[in-house]
Amino acid sequence: MLPDIENLLRLQDADKEIRRLQDEIAELPKRVAVIEQRLAGTKTQLEKAQTAIKADEAARRKFDTAINDLRSKISKYRDQSLDVKTNEQYKALLHEIQFAEQEIAANEDKILELMVNADSRDKEVKAAQAELKAETAEIEKEKEQARQRTAEDEKLLAEWRAKRDQMRAGIDADLLRHYERVSKFRGSGISEVRDHKCMACQVMLRPQTYNEVRSGQQTVFCDSCQRILFFNPADELVDQKPEVHRPRRHHPKIDAPQAWYYRAEYADAGEVYICLTNAQGQASRRVYEIHTGRLIGDILIREGDYRQGFPEDITGAIRLNGNWKEEELDAWGTELPMVVLDSLQSDLDAARYEMSARTSTKHDTPATVTPTEQAAS
Ligand SMILES: [Zn+2]
Repeated sequence: MLPDIENLLRLQDADKEIRRLQDEIAELPKRVAVIEQRLAGTKTQLEKAQTAIKADEAARRKFDTAINDLRSKISKYRDQSLDVKTNEQYKALLHEIQFAEQEIAANEDKILELMVNADSRDKEVKAAQAELKAETAEIEKEKEQARQRTAEDEKLLAEWRAKRDQMRAGIDADLLRHYERVSKFRGSGISEVRDHKCMACQVMLRPQTYNEVRSGQQTVFCDSCQRILFFNPADELVDQKPEVHRPRRHHPKIDAPQAWYYRAEYADAGEVYICLTNAQGQASRRVYEIHTGRLIGDILIREGDYRQGFPEDITGAIRLNGNWKEEELDAWGTELPMVVLDSLQSDLDAARYEMSARTSTKHDTPATVTPTEQAAS
């Protein structure tokens, strides 16, 4: 992995942490506001209960005054009754007195009603007061915690910002600008490549792009999302483990219409894969460099099947598993996809392992199928 990529990954972690802290700090005053709103609700409830008590008290005073007024009226009527001359006048006064007494009784009923109500109003006020007290204590605690958290977050934020500045200083300026521009719009500026895909945007990479990322020699950008791409060989090892431990190698068929071979030396090209395909009485040959998958030379076509056409290429070569349609080979053009290279490489590893195992146990188990084929005579 390029050092700049490693630095960018650390920078991305720092950026994420900084964003998280900033969000948390921004969130805290909102949390305090929600807490205070809850407290305001309880306060309003208490005020309402207290206002109701005051209104009741005022009403009671009004009824008491009315009763006193009525009583003084009655005593006035009684005084007058001593001086009346006629029976009619006396009856009229008596009637007034009875009416005032009824009024007094009605006012007394209302006072009684208020007194009964006062009990539940008292309870309401006491409950609201207790609630307010408990909530206030709890809210003060929560606010204190929020304050402490903010202070801690702000300290961490300052530390992360200092770390980030340090990290930025170690990264190529152009690459950093690209990373920051993409980060700003997409939330992240660097993405891992796995299974030929950019993990951030999930778009498949072209084989050449994938090979470039995998080689770890240069900086490569995702064509689709513009993030800087990197490849982590450790992730691939995990993926390939079951293949590495595959108990038995599947052997290629001797009469298959297509055969792949590995040669350690091929002209000036070094290690190559050779793909020989029979079709309509002719045999074609494609030669690829094993690390880059690049096609070497032109596609060669000869009469007959490949054993007759290309005996010199088969002799001493290691036969590998591999079968792709010629249309597919044509579609790949001058470069094998990484997935094909991987498949051939792991089969080559398995064939080599098989050969070394066979050599060490030669006397016990004679080889039945040898991966090194001789040209058919
Ligand atoms: Zn992408």
